[in-house]
Amino acid sequence: MHNLRTYRYETHLHTYPVSKCAHKGVREALLFYKVLGYDGVFITNHFIDGNINMDRSSPYEALINFYFSDYEEGVKIGEEIGISVFCGVELSYKGTDFLVYGLDKEWFLSHSEICDMKKSQQLQLFRDNGALVIQAHPFREASYIDHIRLFPRCVDGVEIYNGGCTEFENEMAERYADQYSLLHFSGTDFHGVKKKYLCGIETQKIITDVNDFVDIIKSNKAICFKE
Ligand SMILES: [Zn+2]
Ligand SMILES: [Zn+2]
Repeated sequence: MHNLRTYRYETHLHTYPVSKCAHKGVREALLFYKVLGYDGVFITNHFIDGNINMDRSSPYEALINFYFSDYEEGVKIGEEIGISVFCGVELSYKGTDFLVYGLDKEWFLSHSEICDMKKSQQLQLFRDNGALVIQAHPFREASYIDHIRLFPRCVDGVEIYNGGCTEFENEMAERYADQYSLLHFSGTDFHGVKKKYLCGIETQKIITDVNDFVDIIKSNKAICFKE
């Protein structure tokens, strides 16, 4: 008999205090997903080039240590309450955002040169190091975004579903992904308050670590959901 159970993951989640704009602490955010029956979450706070809740002129090492602190707390709480917690990163470039999966704290601590690179070079370096790079909500229109910027040759995929986007913005993202043969990806962009939708991915196989996840997405084996 086939095992028909699927596994459900949030791929795009912000927590407080690391993301300045998040409204829930790590425990509260994890409990929210645990109650909904999710198998795991990826904590993707705003990186040191974005809305991190720390003076961005602080030393690089201190910024990286703070950046990973919510994730580290999340791993402990996740073990306690029974939900898998993985790490991602959300980078920003003038309102254009990228999700990066598969690089850990040690990697970032030893690659401070990323601060001196332009976005396209950074994204290339991440991918050369095996990371999965996704452009988040590529067609979002908002007061903080001056204009839409696309990086079709620098990413593996795009969010075709983002919980903060309109139907139109999500549909444009899906058309864009298909025209450029980019991977489909889905995440809520949860900040602790209700979004239009909950978005994420479902897999046939349980995800045990972030490399597993990167392989599943790159081989197109995940299902994107929005509800
Ligand atoms: Zn935010
Ligand atoms: Zn986000």
